Amino acid sequence: MSLFLTVVSVNEATAVIRSLAVKGGEEFVPLNEALHRVLARDVRSDVDIPGFTRSVVDGYAVRAADTTGSGDAIPAILTFRGRIAMGTAVGAPIVSGDCIYIPTGGILPNGADAVVMIENTEQIGGEVLIKKPVAPSENVLLSNEDFSRGEVVLTAGRKISAQDTGVLAAAGCSEVPVVMRPKVGIISTGNELVPVTATPGMGQVRDVNSYVVGAFVQEQGGLPVHYGIVRDDRDSLSTAIKRATSECNAVLVSGGSSKDDRDIVAAVISETGDVLVHGIAIAPGKPTIIGKCSGKPVIGLPGHPASAFIILVAIVRHLFTGMTGNTAAGIRTLPATLSQNVPSSRGREDYIRVIVKNGVATPLFGKSGLLNTLVKSSGFVRVPAGSEGLETGTQVEVVLW
Ligand code: AMP
Ligand code: MG
Repeated sequence: MSLFLTVVSVNEATAVIRSLAVKGGEEFVPLNEALHRVLARDVRSDVDIPGFTRSVVDGYAVRAADTTGSGDAIPAILTFRGRIAMGTAVGAPIVSGDCIYIPTGGILPNGADAVVMIENTEQIGGEVLIKKPVAPSENVLLSNEDFSRGEVVLTAGRKISAQDTGVLAAAGCSEVPVVMRPKVGIISTGNELVPVTATPGMGQVRDVNSYVVGAFVQEQGGLPVHYGIVRDDRDSLSTAIKRATSECNAVLVSGGSSKDDRDIVAAVISETGDVLVHGIAIAPGKPTIIGKCSGKPVIGLPGHPASAFIILVAIVRHLFTGMTGNTAAGIRTLPATLSQNVPSSRGREDYIRVIVKNGVATPLFGKSGLLNTLVKSSGFVRVPAGSEGLETGTQVEVVLW
């Protein structure tokens, strides 16, 4: 096979990976398990929120017109008509000249149209002195002012946040329609790999990628399924990929993706399926494979953990966007000024890890095999394929990890 003869651009690779993504079906989960899941459909409120006009302060329910012109020197004097208990409606309406004590959240009595804060009043026996005027609707939340019955409170494709769960609760959504999590098979290849529990001997390294990839899958809303370390042996790898594709929605293999004789991932994928991309014009991460076996996406990530991670963030992320339907899978960016020149080759997208401090982005030029650049950096700066580099002082957008 002529490897890397057809290196594709990041945009082309993204389009290919996106075309392989099959959106998950729908399932219902209890509201208290919905955090970070993606909504499968729009959710509407089954009631007006609030369902009644209520006070937003502790104070006195009044007719606003009765307070006009009041002040410390010449307060308005209203007749005290008792207290409203929380959750209880008052039978008799308030008429001009009356007021009634109301707690925060209490039902505004008929006839009243505003609430004077307790701080601006003084009760003396059966009379209440009002020392500050209120406008109609002041300190009051109108019925359905928040959401009205039937209104969409959250739209499909939204990743549910902590505060979203509160809105879902108010809307009566106790069972939440969410997109099923994609199951993602994870395979690490390499004769030199040993499990995390082993102390690496000469020539051996601990399997880092299974954890990085597994955690990334979780962050993206998938369910990682671990198939462990597979030796650089075609039959073992073929067996593992076949098993993983039959049990999962997608498979992420790391290592063995370049053109060395031992690098067999592309060969194994093409035996049972198709290699659609082998080689992306990106650094780090050029030796990346996008393939398909039994209709499922099989991605070959570079072995170097730092390169693998860049490919996860830059390319594989789009697979998850498609599988989970997360429309707001936004990336967080921070503007910064580059502190140093960054050289780059035309025709390739460079992902430069940087540390950002006080608005200044300092590149970390590590060898791609180093793990420490990943944990020391705040994120990366993308140097577009058409550029030969960025100069000191350039304003850049740092994509935060
Ligand atoms: P490869 O792509 O298989 O040629 O691997 C490139 C480099 O990444 C080699 O130094 C490997 O030892 C290293 N590597 C591959 N897979 C892993 C892994 N799962 N964890 C840590 N390092 C790895
Ligand atoms: Mg290898």
